[in-house]
Amino acid sequence: MKTRVFALLMAFCMMLVIFGECAVPTMASTQAEIDKLKEQALEITKNKKDLQKEIDRLKAEAKDANTQKELLDKQNDMIREELKNAEEQIEKYEKLIEQTKEELALAEKEEEEQHELFCSRVRAMEENGTVSYWAVLFNASDFTDLLSTLDDVGEIMENDQRIFDEMREIRKSIEEKKATLEQCLVEAEEQRKLLEEKRKELQAKLDESTALIQKISANKEQYLKLLRAEEAEAKSIDAQIRKLQAQLAANGNSAPATKGGYIWPVTTSKKISSPFGSRINPVTGRSETHKGVDIAGVFYSSNVIAAKAGTVIISQYGSSYGNYVVVSHGTGNTTLYAHLSKRSVKVGDTVAQGAVLGVTGSTGNSTGPHLHFEITEGGSRVDPLKYLTGYIKGWS
Ligand SMILES: [Zn+2]
Repeated sequence: MKTRVFALLMAFCMMLVIFGECAVPTMASTQAEIDKLKEQALEITKNKKDLQKEIDRLKAEAKDANTQKELLDKQNDMIREELKNAEEQIEKYEKLIEQTKEELALAEKEEEEQHELFCSRVRAMEENGTVSYWAVLFNASDFTDLLSTLDDVGEIMENDQRIFDEMREIRKSIEEKKATLEQCLVEAEEQRKLLEEKRKELQAKLDESTALIQKISANKEQYLKLLRAEEAEAKSIDAQIRKLQAQLAANGNSAPATKGGYIWPVTTSKKISSPFGSRINPVTGRSETHKGVDIAGVFYSSNVIAAKAGTVIISQYGSSYGNYVVVSHGTGNTTLYAHLSKRSVKVGDTVAQGAVLGVTGSTGNSTGPHLHFEITEGGSRVDPLKYLTGYIKGWS
C-alpha cells in the first residue's frame, strides 16, 4: 500500500520537473498590469474624496452654479475613470484566469501521462530484475521496510536530492497557481460588483448635476447669471477660433472654406429639442439667441462625430459649454459640439467626416444629456437645420 503511495508521489514529482514551469512571464506581466490598475484606482478614489470636500465647501458657501457644476463634472469624469479601471481589471483577471486554467489543465494531463509512464517503467524493472532504488522502494513490503530501504539507498538518493528539492519547489508553484486562480476568481467578482456600484454612483451624480442646473434655471436672477456666463464664454470661443484659424492659415494648413456638406453629428437621434435663433426664454421672459441646435434623445452614450472633415482647433472644458470640441473647415468655417461627457480628440488632430470626437453628455450649463451643435460659415453662425435633413421637431 505504502509503495503505491510512494509511486504516486514520484509520478507527481517527475511530472512537475518537466512541466512545472510554463507561461510564468505572461502571467507575471498581467499581474503587474493589474497591480498598476489597483494603484491607479486608489489614486482616483483619493482625488475624488478631495474633490467631494471642495464641492461640500462650495455648497456651504453657496458659490455660483457654474463652479459647482464644473466640480460635479470633474467628479463624474473620475467615476468614469473608476469604471474604466474596473473594466480593465476584469479584463485582465479574465485573461489571467484563462491562462492559469490552461496551465493547470496541461499539468493534470501530464500528471496522468507521467503516472502511466512511471508505473510501466517500474513494472519493466521488476520483470527484467534490474536493480534500481526506484524499484527497491517500490517493492518495500511495509512502511518499516520502506524506511530501512531508504537508509540503504540513502547515498544514491543524495545525488538526487537537488532534483527532489526542485520537485518540491515546482509542486509549491503549482499549488500557488491554484491559489492564484482562486484569488483571481474572487477578485474578478469583486470588481464586477464594484463596476455595478460605480454605474449606480455615476447615475446618481449625473442626476444631481442635472438637478443643480434645473434648480438654478428656475430662479430668474441665477438664470440670468448663467446666461451671461455663457454669452461671455461664447465670445471668448469666437476670439479663440479667429486666432487659431489665422494661425492655421499662416502655416498653410487651412483647407479652402466650402459651404455645406454636413452630416448629422450623431447617428442615434434626429430630434431637435431647441432650434437655432431667437426665442423667448420661459424663465426670464426675455428674447435670447440660441447659437446652435440642441439634439435630444442622445443619452450619455452616443458617439459624437465630425459633421464634416477638418482640423480640431479646440478640445477643452468650459464652465458653460462643458466638454466641447471645435473643428475648423477652413477660415471662417467651423462646427462646434458641446456638453460632451467625453472628448476623444486633441487640438491638431485631422478628422475625417464621421470620425468620432467624443461621447454625448450634460457637462457645463446643461439640464440633461443633449448635443449642442453649432455651424459657423464665413465667420457667422448659421442654422444647422439648413443642412441637417429629416429632423424631428421636438420643441413648441
Ligand atoms: Zn444649445
